[in-house]
Amino acid sequence: MSTLGAPDPMRSGTIAASEETANNGSVRRRNLGAVLTHVHRAARLSRADLTALTGLNRSTVGVLVAELAELGLVSEGDPIPRGTPGRPSPAVDPADGVAVLGVDVGVAVMRFAVSGVGGALRGRLEVERATSRRDPEGTADDVAALVRCALADLRDRPVAAIGVAVPGVVRRQDGLVRVAANLAWHDVPFAELLAARLGPDGPPVLLGNDAELGAVAEHLRGAGRGVDDLLYLVGGVGLGGGIIAGGQPFGGATGYAGEVGHLVVDPAGHDCTCGGRGCLETQVGLRALLRRLGRDDQGEREAVAGLVADAAAGDGDVLAALAECGAWLGRGIASLVNVLNPSRVLLGGYLAEVHPHVLPALRRALDHHAQRPNRSVVTVAPAALGRDAVLRGAVELALGPLLADPLWVAGR
Ligand SMILES: [Zn+2]
Repeated sequence: MSTLGAPDPMRSGTIAASEETANNGSVRRRNLGAVLTHVHRAARLSRADLTALTGLNRSTVGVLVAELAELGLVSEGDPIPRGTPGRPSPAVDPADGVAVLGVDVGVAVMRFAVSGVGGALRGRLEVERATSRRDPEGTADDVAALVRCALADLRDRPVAAIGVAVPGVVRRQDGLVRVAANLAWHDVPFAELLAARLGPDGPPVLLGNDAELGAVAEHLRGAGRGVDDLLYLVGGVGLGGGIIAGGQPFGGATGYAGEVGHLVVDPAGHDCTCGGRGCLETQVGLRALLRRLGRDDQGEREAVAGLVADAAAGDGDVLAALAECGAWLGRGIASLVNVLNPSRVLLGGYLAEVHPHVLPALRRALDHHAQRPNRSVVTVAPAALGRDAVLRGAVELALGPLLADPLWVAGR
Protein backbone atom coordinates (compact mmCIF):
# COMPACT_ATOMS: atom_id res chain seq x y z
CA MET A 1 0.00 0.00 0.00
CA SER A 2 2.95 2.30 0.43
CA THR A 3 3.49 4.50 -2.56
CA LEU A 4 7.23 4.55 -2.17
CA GLY A 5 7.41 1.99 -4.91
CA ALA A 6 4.86 3.78 -7.09
CA PRO A 7 5.91 5.44 -10.32
CA ASP A 8 7.44 8.84 -9.72
CA PRO A 9 6.30 11.33 -12.33
CA MET A 10 9.47 13.41 -11.82
CA ARG A 11 11.63 10.40 -12.45
CA SER A 12 9.78 8.97 -15.37
CA GLY A 13 9.59 12.42 -16.94
CA THR A 14 6.99 14.01 -19.10
CA ILE A 15 5.84 12.96 -22.49
CA ALA A 16 5.77 15.65 -25.13
CA ALA A 17 2.39 14.84 -26.62
CA SER A 18 1.70 15.43 -30.27
CA GLU A 19 -1.76 16.60 -31.36
CA GLU A 20 -2.76 13.00 -32.03
CA THR A 21 -1.75 11.76 -28.62
CA ALA A 22 -2.83 14.82 -26.61
CA ASN A 23 -6.09 13.10 -25.79
CA ASN A 24 -4.38 9.94 -24.76
CA GLY A 25 -5.46 9.47 -21.15
CA SER A 26 -2.27 8.01 -19.78
CA VAL A 27 -0.06 10.69 -21.37
CA ARG A 28 -2.32 13.41 -20.02
CA ARG A 29 -2.32 11.87 -16.56
CA ARG A 30 1.42 11.52 -16.50
CA ASN A 31 1.97 15.09 -17.65
CA LEU A 32 -0.55 16.39 -15.11
CA GLY A 33 1.35 14.43 -12.46
CA ALA A 34 4.69 15.87 -13.55
CA VAL A 35 3.42 19.47 -13.46
CA LEU A 36 1.73 18.96 -10.09
CA THR A 37 4.83 17.30 -8.62
CA HIS A 38 7.01 20.22 -9.71
CA VAL A 39 4.60 22.73 -8.13
CA HIS A 40 4.36 20.63 -4.96
CA ARG A 41 8.11 20.38 -4.54
CA ALA A 42 8.96 23.97 -5.42
CA ALA A 43 5.88 25.55 -3.73
CA ARG A 44 5.79 28.33 -6.33
CA LEU A 45 6.77 28.32 -9.97
CA SER A 46 5.92 30.37 -13.01
CA ARG A 47 4.34 28.83 -16.08
CA ALA A 48 7.63 29.58 -17.85
CA ASP A 49 9.50 27.59 -15.15
CA LEU A 50 7.13 24.68 -15.70
CA THR A 51 7.69 24.82 -19.44
CA ALA A 52 11.45 24.65 -18.88
CA LEU A 53 11.23 21.91 -16.23
CA THR A 54 8.85 19.61 -18.08
CA GLY A 55 10.07 20.16 -21.63
CA LEU A 56 6.45 20.54 -22.72
CA ASN A 57 5.39 23.45 -24.89
CA ARG A 58 3.81 26.60 -23.43
CA SER A 59 0.30 25.94 -24.58
CA THR A 60 0.33 22.36 -23.26
CA VAL A 61 1.53 23.62 -19.87
CA GLY A 62 -1.23 26.23 -19.93
CA VAL A 63 -3.87 23.55 -20.54
CA LEU A 64 -2.46 21.26 -17.83
CA VAL A 65 -2.27 24.08 -15.27
CA ALA A 66 -5.87 25.07 -16.05
CA GLU A 67 -6.98 21.48 -15.52
CA LEU A 68 -5.10 21.20 -12.22
CA ALA A 69 -6.65 24.51 -11.13
CA GLU A 70 -10.10 23.16 -11.92
CA LEU A 71 -9.34 20.15 -9.71
CA GLY A 72 -8.43 22.53 -6.87
CA LEU A 73 -4.81 21.36 -6.84
CA VAL A 74 -3.06 24.55 -8.00
CA SER A 75 -3.99 28.19 -8.35
CA GLU A 76 -2.70 30.78 -10.75
CA GLY A 77 -1.41 33.97 -9.16
CA ASP A 78 0.01 37.28 -10.25
CA PRO A 79 2.77 37.09 -12.83
CA ILE A 80 6.30 36.63 -11.49
CA PRO A 81 8.75 39.17 -13.00
CA ARG A 82 11.44 37.24 -14.86
CA GLY A 83 14.24 39.78 -14.78
CA THR A 84 14.55 39.36 -18.52
CA PRO A 85 12.82 41.12 -21.40
CA GLY A 86 9.41 39.79 -22.33
CA ARG A 87 6.12 39.31 -20.62
CA PRO A 88 6.17 38.12 -16.99
CA SER A 89 4.88 34.58 -16.60
CA PRO A 90 1.87 33.75 -14.37
CA ALA A 91 2.72 32.18 -11.00
CA VAL A 92 1.43 28.68 -10.27
CA ASP A 93 0.97 27.96 -6.57
CA PRO A 94 -0.19 24.90 -4.64
CA ALA A 95 -3.91 25.06 -3.78
CA ASP A 96 -5.70 23.34 -0.94
CA GLY A 97 -8.71 21.87 -2.74
CA VAL A 98 -7.66 18.33 -1.79
CA ALA A 99 -6.28 17.43 1.64
CA VAL A 100 -4.16 14.59 2.95
CA LEU A 101 -3.57 13.58 6.56
CA GLY A 102 -0.20 12.67 8.04
CA VAL A 103 0.37 10.71 11.25
CA ASP A 104 3.67 9.93 12.94
CA VAL A 105 3.03 7.12 15.41
CA GLY A 106 6.06 7.32 17.66
CA VAL A 107 6.70 5.05 20.61
CA ALA A 108 5.93 7.74 23.20
CA VAL A 109 4.47 10.61 21.14
CA MET A 110 2.00 10.77 18.25
CA ARG A 111 2.12 13.68 15.78
CA PHE A 112 -0.66 14.55 13.39
CA ALA A 113 -1.29 17.19 10.72
CA VAL A 114 -3.50 18.08 7.79
CA SER A 115 -1.70 18.95 4.58
CA GLY A 116 -2.07 19.01 0.82
CA VAL A 117 -0.19 19.96 -2.33
CA GLY A 118 2.81 22.06 -1.24
CA GLY A 119 3.20 20.06 1.96
CA ALA A 120 2.42 22.83 4.48
CA LEU A 121 1.38 21.39 7.85
CA ARG A 122 -1.89 22.65 9.28
CA GLY A 123 -3.79 21.76 12.43
CA ARG A 124 -0.64 20.18 13.80
CA LEU A 125 -1.11 18.15 16.98
CA GLU A 126 1.35 16.40 19.27
CA VAL A 127 -0.02 13.92 21.78
CA GLU A 128 1.84 11.93 24.44
CA ARG A 129 1.05 8.23 24.23
CA ALA A 130 0.16 6.50 27.47
CA THR A 131 1.97 3.17 27.85
CA SER A 132 -1.43 1.45 28.12
CA ARG A 133 -2.47 2.77 24.66
CA ARG A 134 0.57 1.56 22.72
CA ASP A 135 -0.87 -1.81 21.69
CA PRO A 136 -2.14 -2.07 18.07
CA GLU A 137 -5.85 -1.80 18.93
CA GLY A 138 -5.40 1.19 21.27
CA THR A 139 -3.13 2.92 18.78
CA ALA A 140 -5.58 2.36 15.91
CA ASP A 141 -8.42 3.73 18.09
CA ASP A 142 -6.39 6.86 18.92
CA VAL A 143 -5.32 7.51 15.31
CA ALA A 144 -8.90 6.94 14.11
CA ALA A 145 -10.19 9.49 16.66
CA LEU A 146 -7.76 12.14 15.36
CA VAL A 147 -8.67 11.32 11.76
CA ARG A 148 -12.42 11.58 12.46
CA CYS A 149 -11.95 15.02 14.04
CA ALA A 150 -9.94 16.21 11.04
CA LEU A 151 -12.49 14.81 8.57
CA ALA A 152 -15.27 16.63 10.43
CA ASP A 153 -13.29 19.90 10.28
CA LEU A 154 -12.56 19.47 6.59
CA ARG A 155 -16.27 18.90 5.85
CA ASP A 156 -16.65 18.40 2.11
CA ARG A 157 -13.03 18.88 1.16
CA PRO A 158 -11.84 15.57 -0.31
CA VAL A 159 -9.08 13.73 1.55
CA ALA A 160 -6.84 11.82 -0.86
CA ALA A 161 -5.17 9.52 1.66
CA ILE A 162 -3.81 9.11 5.16
CA GLY A 163 -0.07 8.54 5.45
CA VAL A 164 0.99 6.80 8.65
CA ALA A 165 4.60 6.45 9.81
CA VAL A 166 5.39 3.70 12.30
CA PRO A 167 8.67 2.86 14.01
CA GLY A 168 8.94 -0.59 12.50
CA VAL A 169 9.50 -2.78 9.49
CA VAL A 170 6.51 -2.32 7.20
CA ARG A 171 5.42 -4.53 4.29
CA ARG A 172 4.68 -2.05 1.53
CA GLN A 173 1.89 -3.70 -0.35
CA ASP A 174 -0.58 -4.11 2.51
CA GLY A 175 0.67 -2.01 5.42
CA LEU A 176 1.49 -5.00 7.61
CA VAL A 177 3.91 -4.07 10.40
CA ARG A 178 6.23 -7.08 10.43
CA VAL A 179 7.96 -5.94 13.56
CA ALA A 180 8.05 -2.77 15.64
CA ALA A 181 10.39 -3.87 18.39
CA ASN A 182 10.03 -0.79 20.58
CA LEU A 183 6.24 -1.17 20.53
CA ALA A 184 6.44 -4.98 20.88
CA TRP A 185 4.32 -5.36 17.71
CA HIS A 186 4.72 -8.42 15.51
CA ASP A 187 2.85 -8.98 12.25
CA VAL A 188 0.26 -6.31 13.00
CA PRO A 189 -2.03 -5.47 10.03
CA PHE A 190 -2.10 -1.85 11.15
CA ALA A 191 -3.35 -0.31 7.88
CA GLU A 192 -6.23 -2.78 7.99
CA LEU A 193 -7.00 -2.05 11.68
CA LEU A 194 -7.15 1.67 10.97
CA ALA A 195 -9.11 1.31 7.71
CA ALA A 196 -11.69 -0.89 9.49
CA ARG A 197 -12.29 1.86 12.06
CA LEU A 198 -12.74 4.51 9.36
CA GLY A 199 -15.24 2.44 7.41
CA PRO A 200 -15.65 1.88 3.67
CA ASP A 201 -15.95 5.61 2.96
CA GLY A 202 -12.75 6.47 4.82
CA PRO A 203 -9.68 7.67 2.89
CA PRO A 204 -7.12 5.02 1.88
CA VAL A 205 -4.50 4.31 4.54
CA LEU A 206 -0.84 4.08 3.48
CA LEU A 207 1.79 2.88 5.90
CA GLY A 208 5.54 3.46 5.89
CA ASN A 209 8.61 3.18 8.08
CA ASP A 210 9.25 6.32 10.11
CA ALA A 211 12.93 6.79 9.34
CA GLU A 212 12.47 6.06 5.63
CA LEU A 213 9.76 8.73 5.51
CA GLY A 214 11.95 11.13 7.50
CA ALA A 215 14.68 10.60 4.92
CA VAL A 216 12.23 11.41 2.11
CA ALA A 217 11.24 14.65 3.86
CA GLU A 218 14.82 15.73 4.57
CA HIS A 219 15.69 14.98 0.95
CA LEU A 220 12.82 17.07 -0.39
CA ARG A 221 12.69 19.92 2.09
CA GLY A 222 15.43 19.66 4.69
CA ALA A 223 19.19 19.29 5.09
CA GLY A 224 19.34 16.70 2.31
CA ARG A 225 17.88 18.90 -0.42
CA GLY A 226 19.69 18.27 -3.66
CA VAL A 227 21.69 15.40 -2.10
CA ASP A 228 20.78 12.24 -3.97
CA ASP A 229 22.80 9.77 -1.90
CA LEU A 230 21.80 10.30 1.65
CA LEU A 231 21.67 8.38 4.89
CA TYR A 232 19.30 9.68 7.54
CA LEU A 233 19.57 8.40 11.09
CA VAL A 234 16.84 9.15 13.58
CA GLY A 235 17.56 8.82 17.27
CA GLY A 236 14.54 8.10 19.43
CA VAL A 237 14.03 5.43 22.03
CA GLY A 238 15.98 3.28 19.52
CA LEU A 239 17.72 4.19 16.27
CA GLY A 240 16.07 4.19 12.84
CA GLY A 241 17.56 4.75 9.42
CA GLY A 242 16.39 5.82 5.99
CA ILE A 243 18.39 5.59 2.78
CA ILE A 244 18.06 7.73 -0.34
CA ALA A 245 20.07 6.24 -3.21
CA GLY A 246 20.23 7.91 -6.60
CA GLY A 247 17.52 10.36 -5.50
CA GLN A 248 15.04 7.62 -4.59
CA PRO A 249 14.14 5.96 -1.30
CA PHE A 250 15.95 2.64 -1.09
CA GLY A 251 13.76 -0.03 0.46
CA GLY A 252 15.40 -3.22 -0.70
CA ALA A 253 13.48 -6.20 -2.06
CA THR A 254 10.47 -5.80 0.24
CA GLY A 255 10.92 -2.36 1.78
CA TYR A 256 12.65 -3.65 4.90
CA ALA A 257 16.01 -1.94 4.29
CA GLY A 258 17.41 0.70 6.61
CA GLU A 259 17.35 -1.15 9.94
CA VAL A 260 20.57 0.52 11.00
CA GLY A 261 19.64 0.34 14.68
CA HIS A 262 20.15 -3.41 14.51
CA LEU A 263 23.60 -3.33 12.96
CA VAL A 264 25.59 -5.52 15.34
CA VAL A 265 28.50 -3.51 16.77
CA ASP A 266 29.19 -5.37 20.01
CA PRO A 267 28.22 -9.06 20.01
CA ALA A 268 29.08 -9.31 23.70
CA GLY A 269 27.02 -6.23 24.53
CA HIS A 270 23.51 -5.48 25.71
CA ASP A 271 20.36 -7.39 24.83
CA CYS A 272 18.27 -5.63 22.19
CA THR A 273 14.49 -5.39 21.87
CA CYS A 274 14.83 -7.18 18.51
CA GLY A 275 15.92 -10.35 20.32
CA GLY A 276 19.54 -9.89 19.28
CA ARG A 277 22.51 -8.61 21.23
CA GLY A 278 24.89 -5.72 20.82
CA CYS A 279 22.90 -3.84 18.17
CA LEU A 280 23.92 -0.23 17.49
CA GLU A 281 20.77 1.12 19.14
CA THR A 282 21.72 -0.56 22.44
CA GLN A 283 24.61 1.96 22.49
CA VAL A 284 23.16 5.08 20.90
CA GLY A 285 19.38 5.03 21.40
CA LEU A 286 17.89 7.34 23.99
CA ARG A 287 17.12 4.36 26.20
CA ALA A 288 20.80 3.37 26.09
CA LEU A 289 21.94 6.89 26.89
CA LEU A 290 19.63 7.14 29.91
CA ARG A 291 20.81 3.73 31.11
CA ARG A 292 24.42 4.89 30.83
CA LEU A 293 23.58 7.93 32.96
CA GLY A 294 21.53 5.93 35.46
CA ARG A 295 18.47 8.07 34.66
CA ASP A 296 14.88 6.91 34.61
CA ASP A 297 13.29 6.24 31.26
CA GLN A 298 10.72 9.01 31.77
CA GLY A 299 8.95 10.87 28.96
CA GLU A 300 10.99 11.18 25.78
CA ARG A 301 10.68 14.95 25.51
CA GLU A 302 11.61 15.57 29.15
CA ALA A 303 14.60 13.24 28.84
CA VAL A 304 15.93 15.02 25.74
CA ALA A 305 15.31 18.49 27.21
CA GLY A 306 17.22 17.40 30.33
CA LEU A 307 20.18 16.13 28.29
CA VAL A 308 20.34 19.31 26.19
CA ALA A 309 20.21 21.55 29.27
CA ASP A 310 22.77 19.52 31.23
CA ALA A 311 25.16 19.35 28.28
CA ALA A 312 24.90 23.12 27.77
CA ALA A 313 25.65 23.59 31.49
CA GLY A 314 28.81 21.49 31.11
CA ASP A 315 27.66 18.43 33.10
CA GLY A 316 30.68 16.13 32.78
CA ASP A 317 28.72 12.86 33.02
CA VAL A 318 26.30 13.91 30.31
CA LEU A 319 29.08 15.15 28.04
CA ALA A 320 31.01 11.90 28.50
CA ALA A 321 27.90 9.81 27.79
CA LEU A 322 27.19 11.82 24.61
CA ALA A 323 30.81 11.46 23.47
CA GLU A 324 30.59 7.70 24.02
CA CYS A 325 27.38 7.68 22.03
CA GLY A 326 29.21 9.59 19.27
CA ALA A 327 32.05 7.06 19.21
CA TRP A 328 29.66 4.12 18.82
CA LEU A 329 27.66 5.98 16.23
CA GLY A 330 30.85 6.78 14.28
CA ARG A 331 31.76 3.09 14.21
CA GLY A 332 28.31 2.12 12.98
CA ILE A 333 28.21 4.90 10.41
CA ALA A 334 31.66 3.88 9.14
CA SER A 335 30.29 0.47 8.13
CA LEU A 336 27.27 2.07 6.51
CA VAL A 337 29.43 4.60 4.65
CA ASN A 338 31.66 1.77 3.40
CA VAL A 339 28.64 -0.13 2.09
CA LEU A 340 26.41 2.67 0.80
CA ASN A 341 28.83 5.47 -0.15
CA PRO A 342 26.48 8.36 0.73
CA SER A 343 27.63 11.95 0.32
CA ARG A 344 25.76 13.10 3.41
CA VAL A 345 24.72 11.54 6.70
CA LEU A 346 22.05 13.42 8.63
CA LEU A 347 21.45 13.04 12.35
CA GLY A 348 17.77 13.37 13.17
CA GLY A 349 15.54 12.95 16.21
CA TYR A 350 17.22 13.56 19.55
CA LEU A 351 20.63 13.25 17.86
CA ALA A 352 19.97 16.55 16.02
CA GLU A 353 19.38 18.27 19.36
CA VAL A 354 22.58 17.02 20.99
CA HIS A 355 24.75 16.93 17.84
CA PRO A 356 27.41 19.46 18.97
CA HIS A 357 28.33 17.06 21.79
CA VAL A 358 28.19 13.90 19.67
CA LEU A 359 29.86 14.97 16.43
CA PRO A 360 33.54 15.33 17.50
CA ALA A 361 33.78 11.72 18.77
CA LEU A 362 31.62 10.53 15.88
CA ARG A 363 33.95 12.11 13.31
CA ARG A 364 37.05 10.66 14.99
CA ALA A 365 35.57 7.16 14.89
CA LEU A 366 34.45 7.66 11.31
CA ASP A 367 37.95 8.80 10.30
CA HIS A 368 39.38 5.72 11.94
CA HIS A 369 36.96 3.07 10.66
CA ALA A 370 35.68 4.22 7.27
CA GLN A 371 37.60 3.53 4.06
CA ARG A 372 39.39 6.66 3.01
CA PRO A 373 37.73 7.17 -0.41
CA ASN A 374 34.27 6.74 1.13
CA ARG A 375 35.14 8.95 4.11
CA SER A 376 36.51 11.69 1.87
CA VAL A 377 33.18 12.32 0.12
CA VAL A 378 30.81 12.17 3.08
CA THR A 379 29.79 14.92 5.48
CA VAL A 380 27.84 14.40 8.70
CA ALA A 381 25.38 17.11 9.71
CA PRO A 382 22.28 17.60 11.83
CA ALA A 383 18.94 17.13 10.09
CA ALA A 384 16.92 20.30 9.55
CA LEU A 385 13.26 19.41 9.96
CA GLY A 386 13.45 18.49 13.64
CA ARG A 387 10.46 16.72 15.13
CA ASP A 388 8.42 17.29 11.96
CA ALA A 389 10.64 15.27 9.59
CA VAL A 390 8.74 12.01 9.92
CA LEU A 391 5.36 13.75 9.93
CA ARG A 392 6.30 15.56 6.72
CA GLY A 393 7.39 12.24 5.26
CA ALA A 394 4.02 10.73 6.18
CA VAL A 395 2.37 13.61 4.31
CA GLU A 396 4.56 12.86 1.26
CA LEU A 397 3.50 9.22 1.47
CA ALA A 398 -0.16 10.25 1.50
CA LEU A 399 0.38 12.60 -1.46
CA GLY A 400 2.10 9.93 -3.56
CA PRO A 401 -0.95 8.58 -5.45
CA LEU A 402 -2.32 12.08 -6.06
CA LEU A 403 0.99 13.38 -7.43
CA ALA A 404 1.38 10.32 -9.65
CA ASP A 405 -2.17 10.72 -10.99
CA PRO A 406 -3.97 13.99 -10.17
CA LEU A 407 -7.21 12.64 -11.65
CA TRP A 408 -7.21 9.78 -9.14
CA VAL A 409 -9.14 11.61 -6.41
CA ALA A 410 -11.64 13.02 -8.87
CA GLY A 411 -12.24 9.43 -10.01
CA ARG A 412 -11.89 10.40 -13.66
ZN1 LIG B 1 18.49 -5.17 17.66
